[in-house]
Amino acid sequence: MDAAGTVLRGDLLVRDGLIAATGPAVPAALAGATPDAEFDAAGAFVIPGFVHGHLHLCQTLFRGLAEQSDLLRWLRERIWPLEAAHTASSVAASARLGLAELIAGGVTCINDMGTVRHSEAIGEVLEASGIRGVFGKALMDQGEGVPAALIESPRASIDEALALAKRFHGGAAGRLLVSLAPRFILSCSDGLWREVEEKAATLGLLVHTHMAESPGEAHEVRAAVATTAARYFSMRGLLGPRFVGAHGVWLDPEELGLLKAADAALVHCPGSNLKLGSGLADVRAWRRAGIRCGLGSDGAACNNRLDSFHEMSLAALVSRARGTGSPAGSPSGPATGAGSPAGSATGAAGVARADAPLTARDVVALATCDGARALGLGDVAGSLEAGKQADIAVVDASAPHHGPAPERDVYTTLVHAARAADVRLAMVQGRVLYRDGAWTTLDPRAVQADARAELAGLLKRASMVEVA
Ligand SMILES: [Zn+2]
Repeated sequence: MDAAGTVLRGDLLVRDGLIAATGPAVPAALAGATPDAEFDAAGAFVIPGFVHGHLHLCQTLFRGLAEQSDLLRWLRERIWPLEAAHTASSVAASARLGLAELIAGGVTCINDMGTVRHSEAIGEVLEASGIRGVFGKALMDQGEGVPAALIESPRASIDEALALAKRFHGGAAGRLLVSLAPRFILSCSDGLWREVEEKAATLGLLVHTHMAESPGEAHEVRAAVATTAARYFSMRGLLGPRFVGAHGVWLDPEELGLLKAADAALVHCPGSNLKLGSGLADVRAWRRAGIRCGLGSDGAACNNRLDSFHEMSLAALVSRARGTGSPAGSPSGPATGAGSPAGSATGAAGVARADAPLTARDVVALATCDGARALGLGDVAGSLEAGKQADIAVVDASAPHHGPAPERDVYTTLVHAARAADVRLAMVQGRVLYRDGAWTTLDPRAVQADARAELAGLLKRASMVEVA
C-alpha cells in the first residue's frame, strides 16, 4: 500500500534500511543486480508495519491482574500499587514480554507512556529489540490513591525525563525518540504542567498524556480544574503539533475544534475503552474535524491484548455500533476523511457521507499512515513508499479463515479476518525482527520465564506498597 492507500501487486525492494522501490519500479531499481536476501511473500500481504499509538509496556506483567473495574478504581486499587512495586529488572522483563507480542503481531513503531521510575530500563529494552519507538517517563506529583513511590517533585520528575531524553532521544540510528509523558490532569500539579509546557516548547519533545477517557475521570477533572480536558490544555498553551492525547472519548465538538486549531493529535484505544467501560469514542467526528489520529491498545492490564488486528476490528465495530447518525446519503457537513491519505467513507451509492462509520480502509490508515502522522512520523513510516524507512510487516492471507479470495478486498481481510498470528515477518529499518515464528532480537522462552519470575517478586512487593 502506498500513501494513497493503493494496493499494488508485485515486489518490494529494501536497500540500506529504506524502501528503495515498489511494484513495477523494482526491476529498474535493481538494475540487473541480485538481492542479498529474498523473502517469498506469495499468498501474503506486504503492509506498512503497524504504528501503535498508546501503550504502557510496564503493565505487560499485570495482564489479568486488574479485571472488572472502571478507570479510576483500576488505577488506584491495582495499577498504581503494581507500578510502585516495579524494579528496573521487572520493568525490563515487562517491556520484553510486551515487545515479543507486538513485534510478532506486525507492530514496528510504538508510543509508550513509561512509568514513574526505571523508564531507562524501557529505553534499553527498546534499543536492543530493534523496534522504532517514542517513549517517556510517566510524570506524576499528586493524586488521590497514588502510592508514595510514584510521587515526585515537579523538578525531580522533569530532571529525570530530561536525563532520559539526553540519553535516548534520536538514538539507535534515529529509531528512538523521548517524549514528556504527564500521566493525566489528576496526577499532575499546576507546577508540573508549567514545567512540561516550558520544556516541551524549548526542547521540541512530544507531549503524551491521557485525556477525556472516562465519565468518572471527567467529573473529577472538572472538580479539580473547573473545566474539561481539552479546554484545560488549550488554556495552558499545551495543545500543539507535538501534543498526543490518548482516548478522547468524552471530548465535545468545541474541544475537537481546539485540538484541530492547534494541530494536536488523538489516539483511539477501543479495546481499553470497552473493557474499562469508559465509552465509545467518536473517531468519525475526530476525522471530520480534521484531527490527526492513530490507534493503540493501551497496556496489557486493560485490554488484555497488544494486538493491532484486534484493535482495528474493534475500531471498525465501535464505529458501526455508534450508528450512522442520520439517514444514508443525507448531507451533513464536510465529507469524512477529506484530506486523509486513506480516502473516505462512502454510502451505499458511493457518495461520501459525513457520518458514515469508519471503513476497513479508514481503520488500516489509523493503524499505519495516519498513526504515523499522529506521532509526527508521517515522513518516516506508515506507508510503503520509496525513500521511507523499511518498517514492514508481511501478513499471510492463505489460511481458511482468510476466505476464498482474500485479495478481493485487502482492507476488509486485514481488519475483519486476519489475526496477529498470520504475521510472517516484521522488519524495522530493513532489519528483520521476526520471521516465520522466530524472533531475531528476543528469545521468547527466556522472556516468558523471566517475566514469570519477575511477576512473583513484584506481587510480593506490591502487597507492601504504601499509599501516600
Ligand atoms: Zn494509557
